[in-house]
Amino acid sequence: MSFDAFGLDPLILKAVAEEGYTEPTPIQAQAIPVVLQGGDVMGAAQTGTGKTAGFTLPILQLLAPHQNVSPSPARHPVRALILLPTRELALQVAESVATYGRHMQIRSTCVFGGVDIGPQLKIVRAGVEILIATPGRLLDHVEHKSVNLGQVQILVLDEADRMLDMGFMPDIKRIIGLLPAQRQNLLFSATFSDEIKRLAGGILRNPKVIEVARRNATADKVRQVAYAVAADEKRALLKHLVETRDIRQAIVFCNTKLGTARLARHLEREGLKAEAIHGDKSQLERIAALDKFKAGEAHLLVATDVAARGLDIQEMPCVINYELPHSPEDYVHRIGRTGRAGAEGDAISFFSADEERYLIDIEKLIKVKIERAAARGFEPVADEPHFHAGRRERSRGRFDRESPSRHTRNVKTEKVDPWFLKPYEEGTAPTSAPPAKANEPAPPATPARKAGVGALLGGLAKKP
Ligand code: AMP
Repeated sequence: MSFDAFGLDPLILKAVAEEGYTEPTPIQAQAIPVVLQGGDVMGAAQTGTGKTAGFTLPILQLLAPHQNVSPSPARHPVRALILLPTRELALQVAESVATYGRHMQIRSTCVFGGVDIGPQLKIVRAGVEILIATPGRLLDHVEHKSVNLGQVQILVLDEADRMLDMGFMPDIKRIIGLLPAQRQNLLFSATFSDEIKRLAGGILRNPKVIEVARRNATADKVRQVAYAVAADEKRALLKHLVETRDIRQAIVFCNTKLGTARLARHLEREGLKAEAIHGDKSQLERIAALDKFKAGEAHLLVATDVAARGLDIQEMPCVINYELPHSPEDYVHRIGRTGRAGAEGDAISFFSADEERYLIDIEKLIKVKIERAAARGFEPVADEPHFHAGRRERSRGRFDRESPSRHTRNVKTEKVDPWFLKPYEEGTAPTSAPPAKANEPAPPATPARKAGVGALLGGLAKKP
């Protein structure tokens, strides 16, 4: 199938061709015809599936008859409103709209909070046909009377699940109350939770439900490994891996804002160049952190899922799950940032005993067993070998490659359970060690020490 089949305006096709797109992605193939016919869409699709063009191309087509070069704002009312949860996502979509519409006389702009509203007021007042906005800032514009939403024909709620997670529901309801009742609605969400279904039920009319296959998060190019590590050893293990695996740039995911801030501060103290991005940071701080990271001045970007969601960081060589996400879908999102476009990537996860159930949920979702890895030369230091039931031991000699004798001396009485440090083994049979990294010789295979581990992790679908 080619883009020609949709009957799009040649000016749109020209931009698409200039982008090098030869054929529509699955979400585009399904969504474009429906949107062109004026239908509502409920799309389950994540970033990376091409969904932005999936709604933007037909919107441009529908607005093509309204193209004009009049300087009068009245000739450029907002006709399409695209709502997104974060500044970064809004900017990304705005860039796509500008790209696909670059040969047309259709104005678009992007408004988001955390920055001075002044310059935005001027642009919005001059008139734009396509307005890309975060909900709160859009309402600020409504209050400033810089925007009138009375002529909106098409509403897009993109990343709807994140908007709900971030508490935008009341804002969205207020915004919808300002739109004409007669309009086209497109809702995109990574998941169709009950809450999303309720939201959709109240907005969409007879929508076409489009679900595109989850992008294969376990693409062969992404090497996924998981390290069993006590929660209070994670910092040390992270530093160790960064140093021994020569990780130059990685995004490190934490589950909480506080955890993110603390980890970044700790890494800085340890001499690693780290920046934190989370919801408590102002837009300007987030922009500054991202810019530093992109410029290579920061090597580790410590982020929460929500803050990272809209970041335009597409081809990370390495993603580290410092804490496993509680929703397995978030794991897919996280590691989707690596291994893109044929590039290779590493997805490294840490899991403490408490988190093992999340790892199992992830494996069920992605239908792949994630290799358990051992960090050569890393020896936990704290007295929390969490995988031991009721036994507390102290291990010394962290990174103690230089003093094997002490290490040996400690083995019997003080060493942390070696099960911790060895690769995944199915059942009780010894398996081969994980593939060695260039600078990290594979640990020797050892027989599984604990019966039942394989059973615990088994029963999952085999790697296709
Ligand atoms: P999105 O899911 O909309 O964020 O798009 C993900 C990436 O896919 C963007 O970098 C787009 O430029 C790219 N893309 C979108 N549609 C196509 C297509 N039909 N062919 C190739 N790349 C595409």
